[in-house]
Amino acid sequence: MNSRRNFLQKMAGSALALPVLSSITTKAHAAKPQPPYQGPVLRVAILGLGSYGERVAEAMKDCQRAKLVGLVSGTPAKLKTWQAKYGIAEKNCYNYETLDQIKNNPDIDAVYVITPNGLHKDFSVRVAKAGKHVICEKPMANDAKEAQQMVDACKAAKVKLLIGYRMHFEPITLDIVHKRKAGDFGKVLFFQGLSGFIIGDPTQWRLNKKLAGGGAMMDIGIYSINGSRYMIGEDPIWVTAQEVKTNPEKFKEGVDETITFQLGFPGGAVASCLSTYSLNNLDRFFLDGDKGYAEMGPSTGYGPIKGRTNKGEVTYPHVTHQTVQMDEMSDIILKGKQPEIPVDGEEGLKDMKIVDAIFQAVKTGGKVAIKY
Ligand code: NAD
Repeated sequence: MNSRRNFLQKMAGSALALPVLSSITTKAHAAKPQPPYQGPVLRVAILGLGSYGERVAEAMKDCQRAKLVGLVSGTPAKLKTWQAKYGIAEKNCYNYETLDQIKNNPDIDAVYVITPNGLHKDFSVRVAKAGKHVICEKPMANDAKEAQQMVDACKAAKVKLLIGYRMHFEPITLDIVHKRKAGDFGKVLFFQGLSGFIIGDPTQWRLNKKLAGGGAMMDIGIYSINGSRYMIGEDPIWVTAQEVKTNPEKFKEGVDETITFQLGFPGGAVASCLSTYSLNNLDRFFLDGDKGYAEMGPSTGYGPIKGRTNKGEVTYPHVTHQTVQMDEMSDIILKGKQPEIPVDGEEGLKDMKIVDAIFQAVKTGGKVAIKY
């Protein structure tokens, strides 16, 4: 961990500092020693101490501009273990009953909601009402209606709402987006997104409609949806979709196993995507224009991400996505920084509207218009 921290500190201001990324091409700049960061630090509490919460907590050890200072959990034993592991003060620990009292705690700026999807809305609304900024994991909610309620609650409470879209800060992704914006691929007309893995334990919350909001689409298909938008640079206006279920025992009513879907974009581009819980090695993006192409595989995993274009490989040193994400989110919340690819509630809401339209298209078998 220390060597990673040293590496990150050395790289700060060069390859890891995202504003600089816009001005460099495919190679990292030589590392220059940087003075220690002296600016404001986002003080974060994690709500939901599960496996992804732990990944975020570990990654935050290397953050410069964000710090894990609080915990919220329904399991007292977990609070104790995490408190010791991450050095969290007792006064910054809450359970689901005491959560609302966080409003009286001046030492916490934001709460990162990392529970099963079906709980995101209620917890995010409670956090907003307590006057704290909300960072919420993807998918933002179980559907667009809930997502809208989250956006409204945060607006009313005058707090920021950000969605845990870590790829929006990933260097290879950003470089390819810059190339597309610069016209390197010409007029983009096609995107392919493949997202899937074989899911295990049939009793887990990811296969429970109430807690997951659906199946593979909510968990992994959302990467292809979101990816199609940042890779093409537009929001889709129609969708068609087809569902295949080979194991109705494991994938019950309302829990999708495999869905193929097609998205139409205002500029004439189309996307063809696959979301599944029944195939491994599906983590690929392909973007094609009349002058060139980009492909990524892996495209959205924890990395290293691999990217290439018709001109060759796109390489950057691997960074821990969640470390960069939390440092950047600190700047968004505390300094009003505008990220290159938005990560706010409205962005998450758009994805939820597309998910709703996909489920509707599966049901009707027709083409469904997407309204924002
Ligand atoms: P997990 O099952 O490992 O953890 C979920 C946590 O929520 C656990 O601590 C659990 O105790 C708690 N919880 C509270 N109420 C619960 C309830 N009623 N049922 C079940 N658990 C309950 O799940 P995870 O993999 O950490 O996923 C959590 C969230 O993070 C999900 O929204 C998921 O989509 C998201 N996630 C995002 C990424 C990413 O790369 N951005 C990766 C993995 C997970």
